[in-house]
Amino acid sequence: MTDSTLQKNTIAIIGGGFSGAATVIHICRSYHKPIKILFFNEGYPVAKGIAYSSQSKYHVLNVAASKMSLFNNEPLHFVNWVRNIYAEFDDENLENMFLPRSIFGEYVAKHFNHAIKNSANVEVVEIKKQVNDVVFVNGRYDITTSGNEKFAADKILYAPGNFIPEIPKAVGSDLIEQKKYFSNPWTDDATDNLNNGDVLILGTGLTMVDTVLSLLEKNFEGNIIAASTHGFFPLPHRKYEPYSDILIELKGLTPSTRF
Ligand SMILES: Cc1cc2nc3c(=O)[nH]c(=O)nc-3n(C[C@H](O)[C@H](O)[C@H](O)COP(=O)(O)OP(=O)(O)OC[C@H]3O[C@@H](n4cnc5c(N)ncnc54)[C@H](O)[C@@H]3O)c2cc1C
Repeated sequence: MTDSTLQKNTIAIIGGGFSGAATVIHICRSYHKPIKILFFNEGYPVAKGIAYSSQSKYHVLNVAASKMSLFNNEPLHFVNWVRNIYAEFDDENLENMFLPRSIFGEYVAKHFNHAIKNSANVEVVEIKKQVNDVVFVNGRYDITTSGNEKFAADKILYAPGNFIPEIPKAVGSDLIEQKKYFSNPWTDDATDNLNNGDVLILGTGLTMVDTVLSLLEKNFEGNIIAASTHGFFPLPHRKYEPYSDILIELKGLTPSTRF
């Protein structure tokens, strides 16, 4: 066992995409006692995960820039960071823009690296392995990774992200064997090297939009058909005023009327 005697409080973060990295950034900022973080990530790039590792400039955030800050007490932190780094986005409407997801990935990765280098109390150990098993024994967690390495922790944060969609029953093994069916829509494989035949996309949501944009970016000239059980397309964002009185109204409720 790599860490059999726990000298400091040890937290294991399983999954080092956006949620895992954002947690580390916040612990490094706010925790003032010595702590060790075992940071397990395998599969997608650290701090970026599936969503923010796309390199296509056409794959944009589905949330406006002003709502993507890492810090809730600094709502324009992301917007100001972009203004400083990317001259091409120095636009007065930047707060309302839907920026490429790769930029947000860079933002989180830079702040993650900065946080772990500059924290006096937090020791972050990055482990590029898949966690295969976690067992709670004698008040602590025993963790087993690929390669059968063992680690121990006092607390676990499980942040594995989105799972790959299930393969529909209608998709036969012949399609999979012939590499004509791609179950992971978030990798380049699905849109690379296609002859200009027909492409069927299962689903009509935001991932369908990303996939169509990837095909067009790669000069695909065939037909694209998108199908879903309900046939709805993504809806545009609506403009609304945040309803801030909700907290005041909730305070006024008696315990029996609270829900
Ligand atoms: C294509 C796409 C676009 C999105 N766009 C937006 C957006 O614009 N705005 C927004 O707010 N949200 C968006 N989302 C939602 C997005 O998933 C979340 O915002 C956020 O990125 C999720 O972070 P996460 O840490 O949960 O997962 P991820 O960032 O995906 O990270 C999970 C990481 O854990 C690793 N992992 C999993 N299991 C293990 C294991 N057992 N051992 C070791 N490592 C493991 C994975 O390989 C991965 O690296 C989008 C999602 C997708 C799929």
